Amino acid sequence: MATELKRTDVAIVGLGAVGGVAALPLTQAGLDVIGLEAGSWLRAEDFAPDELRNNYRGWPQSVQKANLEIPTHRPTASAPYSPRLTIHPMMNAVGGTSLHYWAQSWRLSPWDFKVATETRRRYGASRIPKGSTVEDWPFGLEELEPYYDRVEREIGVSGKAGNINGRIDRGGNIFEGARAREYPMPPLRGSGFTDMMGEAARQLGWHAFPGPAAINSRSYQNRTGCVYHGFCARGGCHVNAKGSTAVTTIPKAVATKRLSVVTEAHVIRIDVGQNGRVSGVSYLKGGTEYFQPASVVLLASYTYENVRLLLLSKSKAFPGGLSNNHGQVGRHYFSHNTGGVVSALFPRSLNSWYGLPAQGVAVDNWADDNFDHAGLNFIGGGNLWIYSDRRPIAAASMSTFGRVPQWGSAWKAFIKENADRANTAYLQKTTLPYEDNYLDLDPSVTDPLGYAVCRITADFKENERAVAAFIQEKMAEWYRAAGATSTEKGPVGTMGPSTHAYGGTRMGDNPDTNVVNRWGFSHEVSNLGILGASIMGTSGARNPTLTAQALGWRSGEHLVKNWKAISE
Ligand SMILES: Cc1cc2nc3c(=O)[nH]c(=O)nc-3n(C[C@H](O)[C@H](O)[C@H](O)COP(=O)(O)OP(=O)(O)OC[C@H]3O[C@@H](n4cnc5c(N)ncnc54)[C@H](O)[C@@H]3O)c2cc1C
Ligand code: SF4
Repeated sequence: MATELKRTDVAIVGLGAVGGVAALPLTQAGLDVIGLEAGSWLRAEDFAPDELRNNYRGWPQSVQKANLEIPTHRPTASAPYSPRLTIHPMMNAVGGTSLHYWAQSWRLSPWDFKVATETRRRYGASRIPKGSTVEDWPFGLEELEPYYDRVEREIGVSGKAGNINGRIDRGGNIFEGARAREYPMPPLRGSGFTDMMGEAARQLGWHAFPGPAAINSRSYQNRTGCVYHGFCARGGCHVNAKGSTAVTTIPKAVATKRLSVVTEAHVIRIDVGQNGRVSGVSYLKGGTEYFQPASVVLLASYTYENVRLLLLSKSKAFPGGLSNNHGQVGRHYFSHNTGGVVSALFPRSLNSWYGLPAQGVAVDNWADDNFDHAGLNFIGGGNLWIYSDRRPIAAASMSTFGRVPQWGSAWKAFIKENADRANTAYLQKTTLPYEDNYLDLDPSVTDPLGYAVCRITADFKENERAVAAFIQEKMAEWYRAAGATSTEKGPVGTMGPSTHAYGGTRMGDNPDTNVVNRWGFSHEVSNLGILGASIMGTSGARNPTLTAQALGWRSGEHLVKNWKAISE
């Protein structure tokens, strides 16, 4: 028998990158919020620049929950399962994965909001890839702009604007959509290597610019600026220069005295009352089951757990899982196509032994619909990203570019000579949802509590593979222009568990094809909101978090403005 607790206005499931942002507008408006977080607090002193610990042993992690419920994967419904990951990169802690993410903080481009309409208009309906379920977002970039702006200020984003109210500034991204004002901080500084790559891009006639990062380039809101020593590619920041929600929006929400953070609270179900509305959530803490009644529940536990919790929350009103009477939960899933990397070998040292992955130089000439696709066999494109971040174990695992075997004394001599002469680019590419890519509950694999884990059935399709081939060639061209003597292209891979997982609870006006409405609230049960990239229907060529956070703030503000209608 669960212990029933005192009712609250809002229960947020997961206080990570997105739930941790949404808590702030709610508490500032005076709503009582309980944040149920599976992990616990981690502080600056819990983080260490230790590659072995951070990148290979799955630390820092306060609670090993994600690692115990790693989704299974098969490329298609009839294919065998892929080997299961042994470590899940997502974090269980207050602040979630924003504690150890790279902190690239991109806005989407205007095209990403209307891929379907723009593709039909510019190239004809036949260019929407076969089997794709892509839809336009229910609104455009201009609707999200004020929320991007707000979140950039709350978490602290460093960058250079390229388009302020239509005025183009070549110091920033000339392809970005219009923004109201400059970033709150100037960009992170470049390194000799990123500056050299920027110059090579300019010689090719491409536009290079510094990317935006939720990392302080100078002191900001009582947090210090970054010291660029690196080793935080999958580690927290021990001086709090990284703007995780654990050091930005969550403490601000706690300061209102309206947010109670319940740590090590493992939510197992969202409960539904006799009236078919959400009544609260059930969670386990210290071996005891609790029921937290709430007028409104916001689900913010990352894409796989958002979908899993909905499907596990069966009731009389929702026999196939909460908010799933239209059979849309788990549909329109995709993970970002970030495989298909390109590595390059240079004839001299690059001095990349320090620095962090969000400190880099980008080229967007080949992203989205920034170039004419008339004679091409795909839609979309990729963001080319060059950064400096080199760690000993990763460096020793570098490619030998076919020059020596990957063992023995010739290999050792090669690594010794070339470890600082190589670089690998990060290429984020347009990825679309398809009819036969989806999430559901695994019929035979469970977590230690006996609940089915999430199963991914998904693979990259022809469009994604064509984008990858095109972008890899552009990247190789950029490296060659900068003086690389060898380049090597990696495989695209398949759509296994990802740090950029989209869809499953897609947002849109049509309840037949979407789980949540334009405000992020369920079409089927109005006092349930869903937060995170699981509501995004397109990925663009950029990381998702700032967009998911802007959407989270917008949902929170909508709830405040429509409190009576949603909560009663
Ligand atoms: C190494 C790495 C680098 C990345 N770099 C970038 C980047 O540069 N830029 C970018 O935009 N994105 C990046 N990402 C992705 C980014 O971390 C995610 O987009 C973002 O964290 C998602 O936010 P979220 O709130 O949905 O999930 P999370 O931040 O993971 O938060 C979810 C929270 O829910 C909690 N939770 C889960 N299940 C339950 C449950 N049942 N009960 C209670 N609580 C629960 C978790 O403990 C967690 O705190 C990176 C990710 C990784 C791993
Ligand atoms: S490089 Fe910057 S963001 Fe990374 S841990 Fe050091 S100070 Fe923090």
